[in-house]
Amino acid sequence: MERKLRIAVTSRTLTKFNENVTMRNAPYVPRDLITILGKLDVIPFVLPDVEGACGRDYVDMADALFLPGGQDVDPVFFGEEPTWKIGAADYKMDRFEIELVRAFYRAGKPIAGICRGIQVLNVALGGTLYQDLQADNPDAYIRHSQAADGSYPTHHVTVEPGSRLHAALGDTAFVNSRHHQSIRKLAPGLKVTAVAPDGVIEGVESAEGDQVVAVQWHPENMWQEHPEMRQLFVNFVKRVQKYVESEKNRL
Ligand code: MN
Repeated sequence: MERKLRIAVTSRTLTKFNENVTMRNAPYVPRDLITILGKLDVIPFVLPDVEGACGRDYVDMADALFLPGGQDVDPVFFGEEPTWKIGAADYKMDRFEIELVRAFYRAGKPIAGICRGIQVLNVALGGTLYQDLQADNPDAYIRHSQAADGSYPTHHVTVEPGSRLHAALGDTAFVNSRHHQSIRKLAPGLKVTAVAPDGVIEGVESAEGDQVVAVQWHPENMWQEHPEMRQLFVNFVKRVQKYVESEKNRL
């Protein structure tokens, strides 16, 4: 019998905690993401950052890597000092995740990213971020950190015809937006495939092939009511399946 696909999902660490000190820096992953991956009959498993562990230690465990949303990336990883509007970063988690991205990337395994995921992916592959859109990008007039319910779409994006994102979303999509950072300088090897009306980068993919697809919004909070967002996950699982098949044929 065929085994189920195994998707490694990097954890976040709890930065807000109550008096229960045992929960300090507890690793976690948003439930909506685990739920949709489970519904698509794959096995998601969570990777907490471990001091001293590196990407190579994990790359054989999974068929693909999924980078969920989370806090800001420490700007030290793209060569900048922190400016006033930077949020609470966790350089240990960043270091771990950047290593993982590079290991999975080198191995040719599929990588997907959401929100912080698109940002850490871009940094891991050599790009930079706006530490704060409002402070650092005067063209970004859209409120990208929405006050509305986190699952509600609030702004539009234009999607590049022929891209992986286009296959799920069509020419435009209406997306939620819970970020104050975004990609500034795009990493080599990536291309932009979705942009907001103010020019903010909202989706990237591999420039060649289909190893990497990442979005700046949160489809894991939208798939319940928006079939095109569910389709993003369906297509991701298809890419992983395709990758596993191609590896099997190679051996
Ligand atoms: Mn946005």
